[in-house]
Amino acid sequence: MNPKKKILIVDDEFFFRDVLKDALQERYDVIEGENGEEAIALAEEHQPDLIILDVLMPDSDGIEACKILKEKPATRKIPVVLFTSLAKKEDIVRGLKAGADDYITKPMCLPEIIARVDAHLRTKDYYAELEHRDLLLLLELSENISAIRNPMTILRIIVEKMSAIIDVARCSIVSIDTKGDIYVKASNDLLENEEIKLELYKYPEIRKSLELKQPVIINSIKEDPLMAPVRKYMEGLEFNSIVVIPVIKKESVIGSFLLRTASPLEGGITERIYKVCQLVANISANALENAMLFDSMKTAQEYFEEMSIRDGLTTLYNHRHFYTRLEEEFSRAERYDQPLSLIFFDIDDFKRINDTYGHSQGDEVLKQIGMLIRSLARESDLPARYGGEEFAVVLPNTSSEGALDLAARLRTAIREHKFTNMGDDNVTISAGVSTFANKNISSFDRLVHLADAAMYQAKRQGKDHVLPA
Ligand code: GH3
Ligand code: MG
Ligand code: MG
Repeated sequence: MNPKKKILIVDDEFFFRDVLKDALQERYDVIEGENGEEAIALAEEHQPDLIILDVLMPDSDGIEACKILKEKPATRKIPVVLFTSLAKKEDIVRGLKAGADDYITKPMCLPEIIARVDAHLRTKDYYAELEHRDLLLLLELSENISAIRNPMTILRIIVEKMSAIIDVARCSIVSIDTKGDIYVKASNDLLENEEIKLELYKYPEIRKSLELKQPVIINSIKEDPLMAPVRKYMEGLEFNSIVVIPVIKKESVIGSFLLRTASPLEGGITERIYKVCQLVANISANALENAMLFDSMKTAQEYFEEMSIRDGLTTLYNHRHFYTRLEEEFSRAERYDQPLSLIFFDIDDFKRINDTYGHSQGDEVLKQIGMLIRSLARESDLPARYGGEEFAVVLPNTSSEGALDLAARLRTAIREHKFTNMGDDNVTISAGVSTFANKNISSFDRLVHLADAAMYQAKRQGKDHVLPA
């Protein structure tokens, strides 16, 4: 019998070590450490088959320790799985960059951890059994794709390398959408950016792999009963064997990607082809997951950037961004000699609304007015919340008539809008409109001043008015 494999668990908290140890010690020899220094020393001494390393420890940083482990010749090949809080996405990215092979998250789900540990050790066995040339090619593949953030590029490289590693008639990565349609995302005989839709009923092997979330091997298309219904579509093809491997990460099929490889007539699916496919599917899963993680980080970044220029209540542009955009639009208008208009408006007797219905109802009115402006303005207009109950709309390339027309429509729409919880009570606004045309105005400040002055004039004339400057 093989000796038990060794797992090193490093966590400063006794509780976590103990729970993990309990779950794993039946099948593995468990060694324990409490900090980064011990992780490195114990790894060198015991040469474990896998290291589970806590990221956050009081006197040492798990990611630093991981980096050192991955630099030292004696420990660099030992897979490191980071143990981190789910909320700390940036830790995960930092850890993967430091060379970590995988991560698991706290709060922990024991069955998932056990499955992942088993998968890592199995992968290690596969690597150990592979021929040297395959190892080198796989290493090259994983290095090639680990830095790429575009999932489509990753898929393309995978199939290219894959068909170089093993002698296959066709290698493709397919994905299944929620309607059950199959798309070939990348294939060694497909052009870049080309995508082909397949009919699922013609591919029972893909269907089966998808259902079982397990590899499916068809050694002989002619003899395997699974293929009987579709054999008529496959005549004349240059292959007789197929392997389909789901690209799995975290116990779920990532976006339902499957690696499908068809082998030439002689030979069939050998153990070697199968192992290489399995390893490539693992590498793809990691690369795709990282690419998707970076993608979502980018989205979060964009979200925060977007929020910093918007007003939280109405999500219109805020005061600061209003000035930024107005200044830009003003110099553009000056340079290209185009008109530029500005609408300023203030809600009439807003204090009364707050006093009658409460401050949160007042907020609701502001929100709904924000939506009304959005629905009436054009895509190129720039509506902003200028202050408490004051709004501004910058209108690039718009004459005085156009701006007065929008202001009038805003006034009518707001007055006629049925605000929730306010019965028949209506809300009115007073607006002022200024326009830069024929270089009549020297600066954007002046444009603001004129719109503001016109708005106060409208108030003085009894409110619920629109006035040009
Ligand atoms: P006028 O017709 O002259 O504009 O009178 P008004 O009552 O609208 O104007 P005033 O400037 O006297 O009062 C504005 C009120 O708007 C006072 C302030 O408490 C309220 N307000 C400002 N910002 C907010 C906000 O974000 N939410 C709510 N609910 N009220 C706000
Ligand atoms: Mg007001
Ligand atoms: Mg006011």
